Amino acid sequence: MQISTFSRELAKTAEAALASTFAKIDQTARTNTEHVLDCFKSCGVSESFFTPSTGYGSGDRGRDALDKLAAEIFRAESGFIRPSLLSGTHTLAVALYGILRPGDIMLSVTGRPYDTLTKVLGLDQTGDEKPQISSEGSLRDLGVDYRQLELLPDPFTAEEPIDIPAMVEFIRRHGEKVKMVYVQRSRGYAFRPALTVSQIRRAAYEVEKVSREMGIRKPVFMVDNCYGEFVETTEPCYVPEGAVNEAPADLIAGSLIKNPGGGMADVGGYIVGTEECVRLCGNRLTAPGIGMDIGASLGQNRNMIKGLFYAPHTVSQALKTACLTSYMFGEIGYETSPKPDDKRSDIVQIVKCGSREKLLAFCRGIQSASPIDSYVIPCASEMAGYEDEVVMAAGAFVEGSSIELSADGPMREPYYAYMQGGLTYESARLAIMAAADKMREN
Ligand SMILES: *Cc1c(COP(=O)(O)O)cnc(C)c1O
Repeated sequence: MQISTFSRELAKTAEAALASTFAKIDQTARTNTEHVLDCFKSCGVSESFFTPSTGYGSGDRGRDALDKLAAEIFRAESGFIRPSLLSGTHTLAVALYGILRPGDIMLSVTGRPYDTLTKVLGLDQTGDEKPQISSEGSLRDLGVDYRQLELLPDPFTAEEPIDIPAMVEFIRRHGEKVKMVYVQRSRGYAFRPALTVSQIRRAAYEVEKVSREMGIRKPVFMVDNCYGEFVETTEPCYVPEGAVNEAPADLIAGSLIKNPGGGMADVGGYIVGTEECVRLCGNRLTAPGIGMDIGASLGQNRNMIKGLFYAPHTVSQALKTACLTSYMFGEIGYETSPKPDDKRSDIVQIVKCGSREKLLAFCRGIQSASPIDSYVIPCASEMAGYEDEVVMAAGAFVEGSSIELSADGPMREPYYAYMQGGLTYESARLAIMAAADKMREN
């Protein structure tokens, strides 16, 4: 590969400086791998689970084991993992439609959700939250009232970035109409920090507390867990021993072509949480009365199970890649978030590119060192579900997979590149060096 001596040397310097950060990442991967293996043992994962089923998929033991694995890995009451969940957005939509009913309020406490959910929620395209009734079947069309609270003004330094007083006040004012409190763990396409699992559970605790005080049914506390899985040694659905003023989330969801698929799953999503919430989501996944009981796995079980096995390790590779990027681009004069040694709760790394040309150069550098489609030159373009033009670099074995190294950014000021993934640290670091070269040439 044609990589400058400058970038090669900078990567070496970065790795020396990041040694203790990398050691912590390795330790997290060891802890999570042990937990996943424990779950494999307790679920009795067997070679026969890989046998493809067809039709209704009745008696597909692999599917049932995957559901149990999902629940145990995330330490939740119940859950399911399906290849028929086609993307993160689809999975989140199944969860939202599963829980919300006409007249309910859904309250996001982490500001505007991920771009692709705007149409699911039925929000105005211009960005303000004007109701837009259409006949497309958005939650708004069905009579669900969406509201949001912003994170605190300086979420990067706040001990608890969620505006707890505003959230509690909102629940006091609207009572049981608030059916769901919604949290997005990852930064997604926004310049904000990822929330740590502990920060999320503290908010869940406050929701539980105010509901108890008021004597009302507790809102479902739901977390968009995309990009967060296995970054820490704990997840939102349970409270570890010793944690104070924390409560578990009721429902979490994510995509298998991100962290929990480990780079091995070809497709899929997961939903886990309380027995009741998961049952309702199962009704939406298929139909009431059928729920989670059917679904041909069509030969996907093996890669999904293998993906869960790989996930803690793959996530560690992605985290090292993100730290390296933060360090190297910081050194050559770009603002980055998180900083190289910051505590992380998602795999996303932001580099503030500052101009359209630099953002394109960054993405083109990443693409040029991808195993697949390295000859392709990414260009900005409109994309279904996104509001601005978007540029995306992805040379992945699984189309669109963003646990494989990928970078993307909306074409708007200040031209942030959102980079994530890296199946192997060794390959991803080459792509980072290539991106640094392209940026310096530009
Ligand atoms: C990726 C992502 C989504 C949507 O997933 P898609 O697979 O792109 O539909 C939603 N929320 C967050 C935080 C994400 O990172």
